Parts: sequence; structure tokens; C-alpha cells
Amino acid sequence: MLYVRKYCSYVFYYFWFCTWQKTSYIWRSAEIIKDYKEGDKSLRLKLEDETVCEYPIDRQGSQLPFLRNPDILVGENDLTALSYLHEPAVLHNLKVRFLESNHIYTYCGIVLVAINPYEQLPIYEQDVIYAYSGQNMGDMDPHIFAVAEEAYKQMARDEKNQSIIVSGESGAGKTVSAKYAMRFFATVGGSASDTNIEAKVLASSPIMEAIGNAKTTRNDNSSRFGKYIQIGFDKRYHIIGANMRTYLLEKSRVVFQAEDERNYHIFYQLCASASLPEFKDLSLTCAEDFFYTSQGGDTSIDGVDDADDFEKTRHAFTLLGVKESHQMAIFKIIASILHLGNLEIQAERDGDACSISGQDEHLNNFCSLLGVEHSQMQHWLCHRKFVTTAETYVKTMSVQQVVNARNALAKHIYAQLFNWIVEHVNKALHTTIKQHSFIGVLDIYGFETFEVNSFEQFCINYANEKLQQQFNLHVFKLEQEEYMKEQIPWTLIDFYDNQPCIDLIEAKLGILDLLDEECKVPKGTDQNWAQKLYDRHSASQHFQKPRMSNTSFIVVHFADKVEYQCEGFLEKNRDTVYEEQINILKASKYPMVADLFHDEKDSMPAPPVGKGTSSKISVRSARPAVKAANKEHKKTVGHQFRNSLHLLMETLNATTPHYVRCIKPNDEKLPFKFDPKRAVQQLRACGVLETIRISAAGYPSRWSYHDFLNRYRVLMKKRDISKNDKKQICKTLLENLITDPDKFQFGRTKIFFRAGQVAYLEKLRADKF
Ligand code: ADP
Ligand code: MG
Repeated sequence: MLYVRKYCSYVFYYFWFCTWQKTSYIWRSAEIIKDYKEGDKSLRLKLEDETVCEYPIDRQGSQLPFLRNPDILVGENDLTALSYLHEPAVLHNLKVRFLESNHIYTYCGIVLVAINPYEQLPIYEQDVIYAYSGQNMGDMDPHIFAVAEEAYKQMARDEKNQSIIVSGESGAGKTVSAKYAMRFFATVGGSASDTNIEAKVLASSPIMEAIGNAKTTRNDNSSRFGKYIQIGFDKRYHIIGANMRTYLLEKSRVVFQAEDERNYHIFYQLCASASLPEFKDLSLTCAEDFFYTSQGGDTSIDGVDDADDFEKTRHAFTLLGVKESHQMAIFKIIASILHLGNLEIQAERDGDACSISGQDEHLNNFCSLLGVEHSQMQHWLCHRKFVTTAETYVKTMSVQQVVNARNALAKHIYAQLFNWIVEHVNKALHTTIKQHSFIGVLDIYGFETFEVNSFEQFCINYANEKLQQQFNLHVFKLEQEEYMKEQIPWTLIDFYDNQPCIDLIEAKLGILDLLDEECKVPKGTDQNWAQKLYDRHSASQHFQKPRMSNTSFIVVHFADKVEYQCEGFLEKNRDTVYEEQINILKASKYPMVADLFHDEKDSMPAPPVGKGTSSKISVRSARPAVKAANKEHKKTVGHQFRNSLHLLMETLNATTPHYVRCIKPNDEKLPFKFDPKRAVQQLRACGVLETIRISAAGYPSRWSYHDFLNRYRVLMKKRDISKNDKKQICKTLLENLITDPDKFQFGRTKIFFRAGQVAYLEKLRADKF
């Protein structure tokens, strides 16, 4: 209400207001066309489309429209410099920059907001890299290269390791941004030597994309794993090597694809190249012929030539020094998985047993490609060994059980291969030269919420809670440092600490702990686990039991409430494969295959304690002889993920972080189309709006004494200007103009303003002319 009264004479006086459209709202800009008078119950507004409407304002001011920023600030390349900091102002500013000037990058304090243009822009060439190299961030247009340059510069200046943390939802442009950052480092950190190490670092991308990316409905080249790549530099800041850690590969895709989606690119690349003479033994045909590559319907991607891409994958393998024989072994394993998916499983007896024919060509191919014993495999695909304290016995399985076990095996083989390849890429990028420092680039899935949310979303959102906390603490620390540097009194800003939510997930007897416990109980079920969650956590402010369900739970995350369906959590957390099947693979006549399963590798960093406990199962009731698909028998997927996240946070906390938040502006992948509803969801989910809130609670606008004087000189009396102490002139002026002393602070080199003050000064200035 206060603002309305104060500025009602302002000529270009715009308001935002929201209209409820079904369940969500959108912002519209409007102009006040009738002066507000004390006691008015509404404002008369003219909307963008020239229609006039009455906008009700209630007494509490809860429906008070938001004020627009003065023109001088519209299009500002740093959102935190806006005088009015609120959701519509942020959206409007991003939209104006994006649609009117095609600027995809905008800063929000220390965060670079990157909006996916869905169009190739001429802003990534080598000469642009050179233009940004050596420059100060504030002197140049916002750009991913500016962030990369900042990291590179700070690494040298502060002798400290750096991280670039890229997040955003699927299709928002994370992987593209991460690749441009790496290209920047490869260019400015190129070494004079002929090791070709920069080319090798870049060559890791096509390999990882072939085995870890797939077409989804959101993104034709969606990364289905998270990665953190550390690029190592010597003391002259030349690249000497790199190392990569991966997180949570989506294994289910190997055996199942939703409509219009595909399996990992490598399967299609190999099928498209099946007619090459060297691949005769793989017995492959086209991707439509295999169950594991055809469930999504269309096996092709517009604008993608799988055979062409396969050559690029092979070339990258060769560049990284992966031997021809190893490459062939990789392709054989990939092909074997496709044959495994095509086995014909026949029901026998009353359906409680089944068999696979000894003549099944896919079984033959599978066994010969992997070099394993045919009859053994045939038997153990359809039988299961049970162990009790008294005896061991073998049981038949139903078709469904065989299919499940077969799928588990296929996923396991693929995951082991994926880890083997990551390990080899790392070996190729490893160097014995002493590393002076590194810059890490984290390309990890942002906060996710779907219609149905399961274990995968739970892990992803848990990771994002941790990253958000790290971000909040960092922003908070920087603010504090700035205040100290400027010697102004520290005002405590309350910021959202999500530790309680993180505790709910990872602390003792938290969600993950209870899940692990339930996985250990012989007759544990998803439903029992849900009950334990309700019993234990209902009082937590971050936990809710949905009223209408006994098989789901709600976590109140920083970004949104998410309802998780419990079904499948236990299974996914255990991630079991049958030991008998694995034993056959271990006995393969091909060393690489045997090796893949002998020392079960894991992309997660090795946990700190207790390696190699034997897989003794304490038996209370008869249990199948299963083996967790992890290095350590008892380590569940959730447990490993928690460990790997802790290690990641430790690493990130020891670096100076830089943040890139990618925004997907529309769901149709259309160039330069901005859907404000989608944008606002993402700005909230990636914490940009929270940053804005922290900024708005403190002193968001900062002007140097010099700039301030230049702009507002016109508001001064002549005799004041004659004084020569600039700071003193500013002080006198400001104290005259703004009577409330809480609205500004005089720092050592800058004046700090509360939200709205610059807009007020602008109004005074405009009135003067
Ligand atoms: P994410 O990794 O976030 O899922 P990607 O980085 O794979 O998303 O981007 C998805 C698609 O969006 C890319 O394949 C590309 O077509 C387009 N895209 C992303 N960033 C840019 C950009 N800076 N310029 C042009 N197109 C882009
Ligand atoms: Mg990606």
C-alpha cells in the first residue's frame, strides 16, 4: 500500500498482477490509468492488449500488485541489480533479454542463468573464447565462457581448485554448457607439448554420450547419468589430464523404454553398423528386431545418423588409446545384451516352470559372444538356487521370474561395462605429471518431479537438496565477506537452511536407513517400509503421509513437495542379480568378460571401510542365493549413493564454486520461445528465486560513490556540489532524499540500498526533468 501512495504520480507506472488460470497463475504487465486515492478498493489498469480492468486491492495488501522496475534497469544483465526483486520482475527481465535481444545468458548474483535457445548461435567460436580470455567478468556480457574464465583466473590467482556446477532439468542445456566450459579450458589451457591431452579430454564426451545418453521425450540426447569431470592443470596452468566420476546410471533403460524413447545410443549405433565385415560374428540385424531396442516404437532420431555416430565413437575410443581388441570386446558385450533380450522363454507345467530351447539362436549368440558355457547358462537362466541352514536346493521359476532375472542380468552386464569404460577413459586421461590444481565440472540432473516419482527421483532430489545447501551456505558466506570488506554492520538475513530435510533423508533412522533395514528383513516389503516411515517421521515438518494413500510418502523439498510411490524402492535399492548366473560369466573364456565380473567394479568411489566381506547370508527362512550388484555385498544402492554424495560435497567444499543454472524455455524445443510458467517453475527449482529472496532481504542494489554521484547530481543543490569530498556529498544528498536511515548503508567504496530505493531515486530524478 505504501508504494502505491508514494509513487502514484509516476508517469510510466506499470503494475504486474496475477490471474488465476486453473491451478496456476501467470504474470501480466499493466499500467495504472487512474490515480490511486486513499480508500480506493481497486486500481484501474490497462493491460498489454489495451483492455481495461479493475484490480481489487484488499486491506491487508496481500493482493497488492508488484511494481515494475524503472526503465534504466530493464534488460540489466544482473538480476540482483534490479530495484524491485520479485518473481515477475525476474521473469520479465529474463524475457526481455531473451526475446528482444536474443541474450540467453543473464547473471543472478554469482549464478549464471542460461536459457536454452534451441538454435545454433554464433557465440561459441574460437575468437569468442579468446575475447573472453583474460577479461573481467563484469566487463563482458554474461556468458558460459565468462564463468569458465573466472574459474580459470581464480585458480591461478588464489591457487585454489575450482568447480563449475551446472544444473537444470532434462533438456535445459547442461551437457552443452559443460562441453563449452571444457572447450574453453582446452583452448586457454592448451599445452605446447604434443601429448594431445586436450583432444583426449574432449574425446571423452562422444564416448560417454554413446554409452550414457539416450533419446527421451524431453531431449533427443539426454544424459542418463551424472558426472563430475576434474580437469587437471600443471603449475603453468596447462591441461595435463582429467578424471571423471559418474553417478547413478539409469539402468532400467537397458531393458525398458517408454513410448517414443530409446535405449542408449550405442545399441543403435552398433545395429546401424552391423553389416560391416568385422561385425559379422555379432549376428546383429536392425534395431527393430531386438526387444531391448524397439519398445519405444521409433528407433531413429531426426537428424541423427547412427552409423556416422558410431564411427565417431570408435574414433574417440582410438584417440583415447582403447585397443582394437578391447573395442571389439566392448561391442561383443553390447551385442550379447541384445541377444539376451530376445531369448524365447517357454512356460512349462502349470506355469511354475519354464525353459529356453537349446536351439535358441539368441541363447547361442549370447553364450558364444561372452565365451560362456551354454548348457549351464541355459539351466541357470530358468532355475534358482535356495539356501537354508539345513540344505541347498534348486527350484524352477515362472516365466515372469525368469524375465525379471534375465532383465536384472542384462542391466548388470551393461552397468559393469559402463564402469569398465569409465575406468579406461580415466586411465587414458591419467598423467604422472604432478597436478598443481584442477577445475571440476559437475553436470548433474536438477530437481525432478513427475506424475509418478520413484527411487530414481528420490535420489536425484536428495542430491539436489545437498547441492542447494552447499549453494546457500556459499552465497551467505560471500554476502558476509562483502559486508565485512565494505565495513558495514552485518544484518542477519534469515535464509532457508535445508539441513532438516537432509537429515530426514540421510540421518540415522532416516528414510534411507529405514529402507536399508527393510531390505535386510527376509520378508521386507515396500508397504512395511512405508508404515515404518509414517511411524517414525510423521512429526517431521519435511515429511507427510498422503491422506489417500498407504503406499506413498511426501517430502517437502526446498523446491517443491514431492510425492514418492514406495512400490519398487526395495527392489531398486537392493539391486540384486542371481549369483549362479554371475558365476557363469566369471568363468568366461574371454579375460575381459571374466574380469568385468570378478572384481566387481563400481562407478561410486570406494567406500572407506570394510572391503570384501564375504557374502554369507544369515538365514531365517529360505532365501534365494542372490548377490547385491555392488562391490560389497551389504552396500545398497542408496547407501552407496549417500557415500558418493558425501565425497562429492567434500570435494566441492574444498573448491571455489561457480554456478550455472540452465532453463528450458518451452517444452516443444522451439527456438526463442519463452513460456513464463515453465521458466518460473525452474527458477524456483534451481534456487534462483531463493537467491533473489536472500538478496531482497539484504541490500540488493549497490552503487559506487562515483556512479551514484554521476546519476543523481541533478538532485543536488549547487552549494553541495562544490564540496570536494565525494563520499560526503553522497551522504548529505542521500540523507536528504531518503529519510528512513534503514534504507541504505554507506560502505567503504559503495552505497548499499534496500529493495525499492533505486526505483524511488529514479522517480525523483525523472520528476526533475
Ligand atoms: P541437458 O543436458 O540439460 O539434458 P542438453 O545439454 O543435452 O540438455 O541440451 C539439449 C538440447 O538443447 C541440445 O541437444 C541442443 O539441441 C539444445 N541446446 C542446449 N544448449 C544450447 C545452446 N547453448 N545453444 C544451442 N542449442 C542448445
Ligand atoms: Mg545432459
